Amino acid sequence: MTVSNKYPTAHYRALDAAHHLHPFSDTRALNAEGTRVIVKGEGVWLTDSEGNRILDGMAGLWCVNIGHGRPEIAEAVNRQMAEISYYNTFFKTTHPPAVDLAALLQSVAPAQFNRVFFTGSGSESNDTVVRMVRTYWATLGKPDKQIIIARRNAYHGSTMAGASLGGMKPMHAQGGLPIPGIHHIAQPYWFDEGGEMSPDDFGVWAAEELGRAIDALGEDKVAAFIAEPIQGAGGVIIPPRTYWPTVARILKERDILFVSDEVICGFGRLGRWFGSEHFGTEPDLMPIAKGLSSGYLPIGGVMVSDKVAHVLEETGDFNHGFTYSGHPVACAAAIANLTIIRDEKLVERVADDIGPYLQAKWRALADHPLVGEARMEGLMGALELVPDKRSRRRFEGDGKVGLLCRDISFRNNLVMRATRDSMIISPPLVLSHDEADELIRLATLTLDQTHAELKRQGLMG
Ligand code: PMP
Repeated sequence: MTVSNKYPTAHYRALDAAHHLHPFSDTRALNAEGTRVIVKGEGVWLTDSEGNRILDGMAGLWCVNIGHGRPEIAEAVNRQMAEISYYNTFFKTTHPPAVDLAALLQSVAPAQFNRVFFTGSGSESNDTVVRMVRTYWATLGKPDKQIIIARRNAYHGSTMAGASLGGMKPMHAQGGLPIPGIHHIAQPYWFDEGGEMSPDDFGVWAAEELGRAIDALGEDKVAAFIAEPIQGAGGVIIPPRTYWPTVARILKERDILFVSDEVICGFGRLGRWFGSEHFGTEPDLMPIAKGLSSGYLPIGGVMVSDKVAHVLEETGDFNHGFTYSGHPVACAAAIANLTIIRDEKLVERVADDIGPYLQAKWRALADHPLVGEARMEGLMGALELVPDKRSRRRFEGDGKVGLLCRDISFRNNLVMRATRDSMIISPPLVLSHDEADELIRLATLTLDQTHAELKRQGLMG
């Protein structure tokens, strides 16, 4: 252990291994390798305990939309702490930050949304959604409308309901999931599942799975359909352009609620305030989190449309809520964050400036011999790594190549995430042109080194 370093790596690694269980991690493997200790963040840059400067291509975990280290947030949080650091919103009480944030959200959300229910995270938001949509139908005298349709390989959180709505098999395998009343249908992932169909035909087919599921289950049994505008954790799955219009048509014909999970796609990621606006859908509920506070403090919520809110007014008590629903300090951080996003025109910047700039360079990575597809919408992108780019065949080994590429990327001081053999980025919305160039340079270097290693191992087709 060095004493001169303020953050001695070995010290933190040892204590981390001894006392800290990490999310979504193989504890033994992680501890054998040792964690990377992140000590500072500024803009799109992270610094680790070894002094490396790392480009944060994932905006933390899809959340740091305004970039790291903005003093405005720290000041707003400080000010609020000095006023009142905590009070609940349960028993006929409220406080200015919760009210101001609710009003601010109303001002940026699509017209049908005038109300918000606050939570502490995206997962809690989706648990809230399950109880809300079922309560909605029960209040309307239709208690049998209970089933929520979601999609395979979707991600909606890690709580019992969130993970059940999600379509991740490895999550269902642990802890007795899914809970009853959740039905999963196909995802619009043309690259992996489109077979011989054109992307447009596949998009229509995948959307029509929704109609077929509603018919098979019975419309009188189905409460809602939940979907991410673009699946994030599933692998930045950008649906074929026919998908959302076909879903919208099916939803118009059926009496079920539509929930757009905006936890990643909300707050500018796709160049609109919400992903549903980007795709022209009209949700009844929108779970939100992440970009709501840019991750500076934990906060989430559910945006509730007038249609749903008016029915809930008839329910009487909605027996649901969290100690930290509308936490005043988290709300103050969210207000300061949304003010930055609005005043610095970060949403417009993704639509007209840095979005198109990075997209053009990212899509050009499709020419690399290791890349089968390079896609990006707004500031969410993926690269499909394949052994032979003339086909969409995958590498053997179920995601090992993605992990190899992710490790090489980290060594090159670029955070990219691997979902199976898809490499993912979702950088802060403040990314400059120079930083975008650097991201592409590091991604290219990473692809070259991964490719060389795979060739050495005889794995390229
Ligand atoms: N919904 C989506 C679409 C997400 O991406 C996530 C988190 N990655 C969640 C819900 C869950 O959010 P949290 O981790 O804040 O509980």
